[in-house]
Amino acid sequence: MGILSSEAIILRTYPLRETDKLVVAYTRNYGKVRGVARGSRRIKSRFSGRLEPLSWVELVAFERRNQELVRIDKVELLKGYGLAVQDYQAYLRSSYLLELLMETVPEHEVNDSLFRLLLHVLPLLGDSCKSRLASVYFQIWHLKLAGLLPSLVACSGCGGALSPGRETYCQLDALGFFCRECRKGAGRRIDGDALELAGLVVKKSLPELAGGRVAKEAVSALNAVAEEMVQSGFERKFDSLSLLRRESGNR
Ligand SMILES: [Zn+2]
Repeated sequence: MGILSSEAIILRTYPLRETDKLVVAYTRNYGKVRGVARGSRRIKSRFSGRLEPLSWVELVAFERRNQELVRIDKVELLKGYGLAVQDYQAYLRSSYLLELLMETVPEHEVNDSLFRLLLHVLPLLGDSCKSRLASVYFQIWHLKLAGLLPSLVACSGCGGALSPGRETYCQLDALGFFCRECRKGAGRRIDGDALELAGLVVKKSLPELAGGRVAKEAVSALNAVAEEMVQSGFERKFDSLSLLRRESGNR
């Protein structure tokens, strides 16, 4: 109860009554929070331009007794990443990231690693050339932070070493990577380069990776695996992902 003050990423807003907005924000200090920004639908509002999705803000809110919605008092814009989105594909990837945060992150659960991951990925997510790599990076790390990323170096069946040179299969029902002998039924064969890239994602920073030479095909292949793992790991389908796949012709 009382004053909440935190950095936050704006996830989504909804119109509320005539002049207000309901705001969902992922805050660094309190996790996902829902609040009301009064008067924010007015043209001359003190919130104008500060509540766009993907905005990184400093937020002050007031928690009220027996009320789920906090009252948002002040929002300072640190950086509006939504404005930096350069093309439609990047826009769709941003929408997917926002949907993931809306659907897979529990309310009020503080997770500083996840918040830092967002700040790490957002600057490149809107960039036409790097947005797919940024999206892959986010998905792999989101799985890892949620404890859903299987070992990338040992078969989930026999524990034998996996390597880019050895046939590897992704078994979604068992959420693991398997060697040829351990795979059951129709596992998806993983490209050696994609597996290698996954190993780099968990070791290197995104700017480091983006600055080096990463084969487009490996990014695409790993992206396809990551999207499937996210859906099966979190046990849901994401609307923005269907749209993203349609628009990119599942490349
Ligand atoms: Zn095995």
